[in-house]
Amino acid sequence: MAPADAPGSAGGAAVETTGTLLREGAERLRASGSETSRLDAELLLGHAVGAGRTAILAHPEAPVGADAARRYRAGVERRAAGEPVAYIRGLKEFYGLAFNVDPRALIPRPETERLVELGVAEIRHRLGAARDAAAPVQLLDVGTGSGAVAVAVAVSLRGFGGLDAVRIAAVDVSRDALALARENAVSHAVADRIDFAEADLVPEDGQRYDVILANLPYVRRDVIPQLPRATSFEPVGALDGGPDGLEVIGRLLERLPETLTDDGLALLEIGADLGEAIVTLAGARLPGWRCVVEADLAGLPRVARIARG
Ligand code: GLN
Repeated sequence: MAPADAPGSAGGAAVETTGTLLREGAERLRASGSETSRLDAELLLGHAVGAGRTAILAHPEAPVGADAARRYRAGVERRAAGEPVAYIRGLKEFYGLAFNVDPRALIPRPETERLVELGVAEIRHRLGAARDAAAPVQLLDVGTGSGAVAVAVAVSLRGFGGLDAVRIAAVDVSRDALALARENAVSHAVADRIDFAEADLVPEDGQRYDVILANLPYVRRDVIPQLPRATSFEPVGALDGGPDGLEVIGRLLERLPETLTDDGLALLEIGADLGEAIVTLAGARLPGWRCVVEADLAGLPRVARIARG
């Protein structure tokens, strides 16, 4: 066999194109057990060549350089070993925005867009209602992780001119997650609009909030080993909800009387299997309060609305 750098041999090697690389990668990923092998390959190739997925799909005949092909194959191997595509790309789209993601925090999930939607609707409602215009609406995002919820709310409020009338605080118990959240706030130009702080559930400064949003860990501990392999790359502290899934959320419920304003509202994301359990738990820990559960786009229980009765 001729050495790879022999004159003329470069032209002899088959030119790699987006089409051939996609086929190769999708086959490798299908064999590794990925259920989204083609999509994964498209996203990874787009990442390797620095183009969007649609550009990749539109030009299957486009040649791909050797460096990009190497980067792509390295990504495919990481994915084949189970790593989430979002961590390989370092990026996840959420609420129409691109967030930096890495193992410091949970990858934002589509179902959490429901929490953002309900939070934004609630704040807009409060901004529109008769109120003391000098007093901003106070918002707290508990367990902010990558910052996706706080940043998406802030960007959305800015979109309709409401950001100046809202004060946003975001807390997490993980210093690593907070560093990532700050990076995301900077990328979306809302870093000066969100006060990030390290805290276990709520800041200890006695401040009360009109709206509290939280996507806390709520996966039942015994279910965690059965989650898709990609999930094992994420921080388990962001998923582990204890024996019944409601350990951390239950601790937050106990802090609500001192943390929510008199007419405040807490919107808490829950697992689809916790719709009844959260109502029972809220009834026990917050006698006289109201708890109703909103469904997500799939029609599954997803967000508990909790307020004084
Ligand atoms: N929805 C996530 C999952 O099932 C869990 C997120 C959470 O615990 N807050 O992987």
